[in-house]
Amino acid sequence: MKVLEERIRQDGRILSNTVLKVDSFLNHQVDTTLVLEIGREFARIFGGRPITKVLTIEASGIQFAMAASIALGVPFVYAKKKKAVTQEGEVYSAPVHSFTRGESYLVSISRQYLGPDDKVLIVDDFLATGAALVCLADIVQESGAELLGVGCVIEKSFQEGRGLLEERGIEVHALARIASMAPGEIVFIGNEAV
Ligand code: 5GP
Repeated sequence: MKVLEERIRQDGRILSNTVLKVDSFLNHQVDTTLVLEIGREFARIFGGRPITKVLTIEASGIQFAMAASIALGVPFVYAKKKKAVTQEGEVYSAPVHSFTRGESYLVSISRQYLGPDDKVLIVDDFLATGAALVCLADIVQESGAELLGVGCVIEKSFQEGRGLLEERGIEVHALARIASMAPGEIVFIGNEAV
């Protein structure tokens, strides 16, 4: 997605060879015009499929899942990072190791909101090690729902996430795919370095 790549070049901050900061427009302060456009792009890519629900993980996946679900006309569900006292009944849960925080946490989704009748599109902000999305894919499988695809806003293609998902037969689409990066330089797949 050209407009997204340009914005990453302009406003993204490359903290190291592995960490990109996009918190001025995507995941802290949020450019809602861009996020709604991202949602429409996911709907364009996956809209031919009979999706009943968009699934993501709190917190930074929520705005993209919401934008995709508005464009697709279906609800979205976000997995919680710990079981809230208000989460009634049984939950699906699985552990995730966070790449950015260097710690593990438990992810949970109420069984009420995901089940065998659902056809799911998973959406998230970043695909890095794939830990978060593999965990969500495992929960979808456990629920008996069908996973129709994974859409992520930014893929760091030099990390192993895409491979782990594809090994499981999951179709992955990323709107910006970073082949490599270093402070002052970012290379998108299919683009020249600047
Ligand atoms: P995973 O390693 O499980 O694929 O990534 C999990 C989460 O870590 C992503 O959803 C995202 O929130 C965060 N993350 C991973 N890499 C980066 C990065 O380079 N920059 C930022 N801002 N977040 C990241």
